[in-house]
Amino acid sequence: MGSPDVPRLLPGATIGIVGAGQLGRMLAQVARQHGYRVVVLTGGTKNTPAGVLADEEIVGDFSDEHAIAQFVAAADVITWEFENVDLGVGEAASAMGVPVRPSAAIVAIAQDRELEKRALADAGLAVAPWRPATSEAELAHALTDLRTPVIAKAARFGYDGKGQVRIDHPDSVGDAWAALGGQRLVVESVVPFERELSVVVARSFDGDVVDHGVMENHHVNHILDTTVVPASTSQRTSSEARAMAHCIANALQLVGVMCVELFDTGAGLIVNEIAPRPHNSGHCTIEAAPASQFEQQLRAVCGLALGDGRCRPAAMVQLLGDLWSDGQPDWAAALTDPDVHLHLYGKAEPRSGRKMGHLTSVGDDPTLALQRAVDARVALIGR
Ligand code: AMP
Repeated sequence: MGSPDVPRLLPGATIGIVGAGQLGRMLAQVARQHGYRVVVLTGGTKNTPAGVLADEEIVGDFSDEHAIAQFVAAADVITWEFENVDLGVGEAASAMGVPVRPSAAIVAIAQDRELEKRALADAGLAVAPWRPATSEAELAHALTDLRTPVIAKAARFGYDGKGQVRIDHPDSVGDAWAALGGQRLVVESVVPFERELSVVVARSFDGDVVDHGVMENHHVNHILDTTVVPASTSQRTSSEARAMAHCIANALQLVGVMCVELFDTGAGLIVNEIAPRPHNSGHCTIEAAPASQFEQQLRAVCGLALGDGRCRPAAMVQLLGDLWSDGQPDWAAALTDPDVHLHLYGKAEPRSGRKMGHLTSVGDDPTLALQRAVDARVALIGR
């Protein structure tokens, strides 16, 4: 059993992962490569993407005390692949002396947009103008202050555009309040951005900070569709984005990996949100960097030195369940390009909008890498 006083965990120790989706799966792959054991807490389902690769899959709700106790007892350190969970697991871990990295306090900030905005502003980083709202009257008041257009977001547990409504006219306040189910909200001005960026940053137990450069992201229907690294920004903007990510990682005393998502307005950078774990936009680090975001997470939570995160030019395209609408995609056709790499997450049911896998391509030119990955995705369905 680990102890918070002994930060270093060596191969043979057991990594406990909260959540069991694709991010946990890719961490489990790296952990096993390095000779660690893995236990996952799935949140309820079984034979999960991470669970099938783990030494132990604990099937239980994130608030199930029995499952949590079993999970914590099996782990030497606990980390997260999903942050929108009940934090009872953090309390149980601290009661049992098992370190949690990143800390439950950081996860509490990342799962609440209001706490997140305050933490970012406290660290001196720019965020979109925003107001909290806990009633329809406060929502109307926020619109008066901020002026339309705004995006009203559920303060807690939002991701991939879920729990969000754009309001273009004050007359829509009642509908928006009803659509969001009367929850506590964060209302923010729509940022007229030129591009969306992200920086995946790792911070070690000793306080070293390493990133993978700046990713440029394109979303379709609020879901990340493509990522290219390095982003097509100026050197100055890239340096600023990386500095902002380092700044928040240090301010929060992160131990682990964090993704910082930013809007590049052309006149400055604004932080949209943070996620205290590896991120979809960092998937290309598996092929593009000597140490991927998952290797950095493993190293950081085990109290080890970080690896070299610098990326070669690369691109990632997401594979959603929609690609299965006419049956099994043509994997052989996609892999005729020797520089395209396939990752499938082991999900049995290919629902529309569900992240089933991704393709990566690495090359000297990020635009060509993206073209190759996109071509391979087209080849999957023959059009
Ligand atoms: P989020 O769940 O906050 O990551 O939002 C999902 C996506 O909605 C972002 O990646 C942006 O494309 C868009 N979005 C969110 N907030 C804003 C904003 N304040 N201004 C403009 N676009 C936004």
